[in-house]
Amino acid sequence: MTSRSKHHGWQAGELAGAVQAVAKVLDEYVQDSQRGEVPVLRQTPPEELIKGLQMRQCISAGGMTNELLAAFITKYLAQGTRLHHPGYMSHQCAIPDIGSAIADLVHGVSNNAMSLFEMGASGVAAELVVSEWMLGKVGWNPNDAGAILVHGGSLANLTALLVARHHSFPEAWQHGMPQNAVILAPASAHISVARAASLLGMGSRAVCTLPCDRTGRILGAQIRESIKTQQRAGRTVMAIVANACAAPTGLYDPLQDIAEACHAEGIWLHVDAAHGGSALLVPELRYLLNGIDQADSITWDAHKMLRTSTLAAAVLIRHQVNLSQAFQHGADYLFFDDNRPGPDLMHYTIEGSKAELGLKIFLNLAHRGETGLAEYIHSRHHAARRFWKMVRQRKTFEVLGEPESNLICFRYADAPGPDSDQLHIAVRNQLMQQGTFHLASSFVDNRRWWRATIMSPSTDDATFSRLLDAIETCWQELSMGKRGHNS
Ligand SMILES: *Cc1c(COP(=O)(O)O)cnc(C)c1O
Repeated sequence: MTSRSKHHGWQAGELAGAVQAVAKVLDEYVQDSQRGEVPVLRQTPPEELIKGLQMRQCISAGGMTNELLAAFITKYLAQGTRLHHPGYMSHQCAIPDIGSAIADLVHGVSNNAMSLFEMGASGVAAELVVSEWMLGKVGWNPNDAGAILVHGGSLANLTALLVARHHSFPEAWQHGMPQNAVILAPASAHISVARAASLLGMGSRAVCTLPCDRTGRILGAQIRESIKTQQRAGRTVMAIVANACAAPTGLYDPLQDIAEACHAEGIWLHVDAAHGGSALLVPELRYLLNGIDQADSITWDAHKMLRTSTLAAAVLIRHQVNLSQAFQHGADYLFFDDNRPGPDLMHYTIEGSKAELGLKIFLNLAHRGETGLAEYIHSRHHAARRFWKMVRQRKTFEVLGEPESNLICFRYADAPGPDSDQLHIAVRNQLMQQGTFHLASSFVDNRRWWRATIMSPSTDDATFSRLLDAIETCWQELSMGKRGHNS
């Protein structure tokens, strides 16, 4: 990046030079992060960063040289959140892998926004082959089932519920939704489910809560009764949403029981497997998803456990015909019957243009192999189990339940209440301020929990010991400070 020249094309070697300068910085960034000797995150206020990194000057001057670029990116990365760090255990964002990083660069160069076939035949091919692979993992026949990649799990849930809507109310696209339509979901369903209901014109109040146990898991035996209750009240159940696994707890709903109830009542079953779908790759974990092949639609994010950068999510539909009928708008400036040699995927998405999402997943698979990815997923589940055992050994803590995924909820074993909840939040904040650990948090069973998602390959048992020590120290400091304050 040097060009102050009038020529707006790229010089030979210009990109390679910039990439080379940044590649070294990125390599060091990941190594430093993985060693964990730098803060896992910094939270400098934006105005301070804009000044410190001289961002306004960069905009007005332009012409950043490769040397300045490397220096800028170094500082930029140091001020962000390091997902490769062993202390990163927070939100369920993938620790990206090399294949996906390269795909992002390739897309950045080629910008094949391939929702129209003519805008990227190879991108379409990558999406189709990855879709076929994902459908196969579920146990569906790719000739019968359908799939589409979209920018994120929230959009995937909206798309799946749109397909469910078409299935229940084929008139809705043109005439809007009937007033009596409801979606049944556990309270632990992702926020995007209620948002989807609003966006579909049902109102978020149309999402009714299914009976669950104390950990927020759906009680399979009560599903049919819940459906009947709705029907008696004159409502039509458009879909049931189940978690595999739930974002707040990492626990899987009993899919087999739920699927049987949905089939008996003829209700669309959507399984939100945004995070937990990747367990399909691991034979020892597959049982968690028993029954998923009887769902009507599935959300499966690659940017959680398949290690692609955000965003790359799949919507999988058991019968392709439902997907192809759900979107009914044509546009005569885009589509005209001209016999294209490949599909225009835009017929199946809410978005218009889209990134080459298939390439990210494809290159991760091609790089590590399915076995390599499966080993990664398995190892993170195992690590979470070891963490669970370590937490239980210290009598100071309690856990929400036996973990089923790489996500664990644990808390200080004290009397529950607002003060305790506040202390949990304060401890999380203090760890973030120290830059030692980045935890998430959930509110389940009327209590505040620390939520740890074991994602980073560099997180090990020594990390867990340090985390628990750090929490105990923080807790003592903060609760003492609080008592001092109160007296
Ligand atoms: C992460 C997640 C989502 C949302 O996915 P985004 O890609 O962040 O939009 C939805 N549902 C569940 C269960 C998730 O874990």
